[in-house]
Amino acid sequence: MAYWGSCLCTAIRFKVDVFEQAVAHCHCRMCQKFHGAAFSTLAEVKLEHLTWLSGQNKLVAYQAKNKTIRQFCQVCGASVSFTSRYNRAVHTIEIPLPLIDKYDDNSPIPLPNAHIYCDSEAKWLNNIDQLPKYKGYRPTSDALDTNNSK
Ligand SMILES: [Zn+2]
Ligand SMILES: [Zn+2]
Repeated sequence: MAYWGSCLCTAIRFKVDVFEQAVAHCHCRMCQKFHGAAFSTLAEVKLEHLTWLSGQNKLVAYQAKNKTIRQFCQVCGASVSFTSRYNRAVHTIEIPLPLIDKYDDNSPIPLPNAHIYCDSEAKWLNNIDQLPKYKGYRPTSDALDTNNSK
């Protein structure tokens, strides 16, 4: 089993041997702001199962008031890791699932199994499944359509 991941600019590359069971969509305000997204999707990995392959010197750490530490790439700004007191106690680190580029055929895709911190779920996320879906950028003819025009 093996998974390979990288940041947006690919300066930072790493390998994960196996993921732990905990994979969650986190809707906390800090994840929202740090990722610039409605929620983050973080997968837990034992430190012994994570190998940095390149760019470790490009990692910058931000420590929040609650002592959680988030690492990001100083070149492209991608979120690369999250650790809390819990993670430090059990020697794990959490990796954003979108960073994974490829995995062995015999490696199960880590599947998110919870939404957490839903108290702060984005108010504008409630209709996400009803929105039209396009394979690429939305057609310009549709650009002015709104949910209220039906
Ligand atoms: Zn980068
Ligand atoms: Zn969070």
